[in-house]
Amino acid sequence: MDECLQDVIRCDLCETPVPPKHCEPCHLHLCEACVENHLSDQFKDHYIVPFKQRGSIPKCLYHSTNICIILCKDCNVPICKICSSFGEHVQHKKEDILKATAEKKELIRKDLRELEKFIYPRYQEAAKSIPVQRADVNKRSQNLTTALDKQGKAIHTEIYTIIQGMKSEIDDMDAQHIAAIDQHEVAINKTSTKIIKVILDLKRLLDTSDVCLVSEYTSRTEAFRSFPAQFQVTSLPTFTPQEINRADSATDWFSVRTSHHIPSKNAL
Ligand SMILES: [Zn+2]
Ligand SMILES: [Zn+2]
Ligand SMILES: [Zn+2]
Ligand SMILES: [Zn+2]
Repeated sequence: MDECLQDVIRCDLCETPVPPKHCEPCHLHLCEACVENHLSDQFKDHYIVPFKQRGSIPKCLYHSTNICIILCKDCNVPICKICSSFGEHVQHKKEDILKATAEKKELIRKDLRELEKFIYPRYQEAAKSIPVQRADVNKRSQNLTTALDKQGKAIHTEIYTIIQGMKSEIDDMDAQHIAAIDQHEVAINKTSTKIIKVILDLKRLLDTSDVCLVSEYTSRTEAFRSFPAQFQVTSLPTFTPQEINRADSATDWFSVRTSHHIPSKNAL
């Protein structure tokens, strides 16, 4: 019980327990009531800090008896009273170290809050959306490929149909032409047979001495002079293969165009 009481920290001047202040240069625990009293001793430099911050004020490297109660704002270093009044820091902006520390802590809290609440979450969101973006690109290119394949098949079918149509037109036309040539052949053969018969008749007449038969002869050659109308080919189908122009036709068939900007490797 006695040890417990001894462990309680007390004001070094009036023994009040749990003193809230501390004079750094004097190494004294002080209660609120004694602070003013202590400061009235003007033979010494005092510097009162909250009890929690006791021992946190650094000693001056150049003036070992002094503590750095001032922050040089231009150099961002703690300095002592002597350093503040002489030398390089004289013209610099300065502030009480406790006040400056409190301000810095506030700035740190503000930065921490902003980083935790706003900045970091945005990076997390961005990181989360990366796989989604990647999947989107894959899906889009898959869709395009599928659409291209489909269009390619449709074009193949269309071309096949057109070629088949043209072929059957050619077949029809050829069939008509062959039929006409067949007719012509029949007519020529028929007339040829008649002509052979007439030639034989005429030869026989020349050989005969029968005056009556010769007298009865009338010329039938006129009938053979008009040659049977030959089949006239008026419109034979023609076909001139066109050179396939890759730049025009292919892109007209495939109206899939890329609209986004991917830096071209062939920009030269
Ligand atoms: Zn006291
Ligand atoms: Zn003091
Ligand atoms: Zn100093
Ligand atoms: Zn300075």
